[in-house]
Parts: sequence; structure tokens; C-alpha cells
Amino acid sequence: MGSVCLSSKAALKSGCGLVTAFVPKCGYEIVQIAFSEAMVLTDENEKVLSNINYNFEPDAIGIGMGIGQDVLTEKAFYHFLLNNKTNLVVDADGLNILSKNKKWFSLLPPKTILTPHKKELERLIGTWQSEEEKLEKIIQFSLEHDLVVVVKGAPTLVIFHSEIYQNTTGNQALATAGSGDVLTGIITSLLAQNYDPKNAAILGVYLHGLTADIAAPEMSHQAFVASDIIGYLGKAFL
Ligand code: AMP
Ligand code: MG
Repeated sequence: MGSVCLSSKAALKSGCGLVTAFVPKCGYEIVQIAFSEAMVLTDENEKVLSNINYNFEPDAIGIGMGIGQDVLTEKAFYHFLLNNKTNLVVDADGLNILSKNKKWFSLLPPKTILTPHKKELERLIGTWQSEEEKLEKIIQFSLEHDLVVVVKGAPTLVIFHSEIYQNTTGNQALATAGSGDVLTGIITSLLAQNYDPKNAAILGVYLHGLTADIAAPEMSHQAFVASDIIGYLGKAFL
């Protein structure tokens, strides 16, 4: 539920008018208390997502943070992909579930954004011997499935088909638990506000890094945690 709160709050603080968190029943009070501005919808299951079912049409969806890899959740994710037409950002266990079920890539909407860190990327495309081979593999992967791939690291790259963008903001303060969940929230928010998926990814990564560049001289790398990324979004936007 921590990742849900971080990503939904980051989305709302990045300009979305309304953010709905979809969580198992046990998450309702946790999310509603930790983040009072959130709308919260619940799955029929107490502990895991088993039926991702809602009756409204969001402008964008970020999925995968904190969902785990229960068999029920894998099935629910498959049915979600079968029915979904909304622009998507997939992170964390959403990526891990896709890695185990590579046929499901064909169900993703065009220009779906994936936000893997190094280990998640390895699960998606396999290992590489050199940086050159890594880039070639990601380009092929992006072309084959029409994906925007946010290759998280220092620096982060955004790869769309054969275009490669290298981010110029960010520092080691971002190496902190929940940092990636916040990034997914920011990018999903920009996507909901009609940025083209490639630009949503590029701008989201830039803003995420900029919060740390502004914050580090004010509060130190050491004391900076993921909720501080959210706290500094205002200064980053300005
Ligand atoms: P995650 O591992 O999913 O929490 O994502 C971590 C986030 O922090 C990614 O956006 C990384 O690019 C960023 N990050 C981690 N370490 C560094 C670093 N040393 N410099 C810049 N960004 C970093
Ligand atoms: Mg992560």
C-alpha cells in the first residue's frame, strides 16, 4: 500500500485532477487515511487483486506497483489487458508478470510505457554483454511491441523505437525506496494530461530527477526519501 500511496500522490501532485487507487479490500482504509485526496476503489478480494473491474474510463492507468505476483493477480492482469484500451504505464510486478508471459505484450495498447530498473529489464529482454548490445536489444524490443521503454538508472534513458534520449537531471538522492513508484505516478499523470507517451516519459523522468537536484543542496542526499520527491514537485514544475 506504500507504493500505491506514493504513486497516486505523485500523480495528483503532477497535475491530475482526480486520482483513483484500485486496491484489494484490505487497502481501503490504509490508502484513504494516508492520502485523503485519493478516490479508492477495491477489488472483491481481501488481500490480492483478483478482478480488476471498475465502471469508469480513466485518462491513463499506471499498473504494477505493489500488486505482487499471486496466480489470481496474474489472471486478473491478463483479463485487464484483454479489455483495456486506455493508455498504460506498466511498472514493478506488472513488468515481472509480463516477463513470465511474453505473449501478453501483444495485448498492450500502442506506445505503452514500461519503466524497468536493471533487474526488471533483464527479466524482460534477457542479459547483455555490452552497453551496445543492451541498447540494440531494447530498440528491437521497443520496435517489435511498439513500446516506450524508460530504462531507469544513472542516467535514465528513454527509448522509443530507434530514438534514444538521455536524461540530464537526478543524483544519488534518488536511490531510495519508493523512488520508482513516484516516477510511475508522475509519468501516468502526464499521460492522463494528453502528453504523447514518449514526451510523458521524457518529461516525467526529467521532473523526477530535478526534484533531487533542487532538494539535495537544501536537505542533503542522505535525508532525501521518496515522499520528498513528491514534496519538491512544485519547485520542479516552477
Ligand atoms: P526503483 O528502483 O524502481 O525504485 O527506481 C529508482 C529510481 O531512482 C529510478 O528512477 C532511478 O533512475 C533513480 N536512481 C537511482 N539511483 C540513482 C542515481 N544514483 N542517480 C540518479 N538516479 C538514480
Ligand atoms: Mg520500482
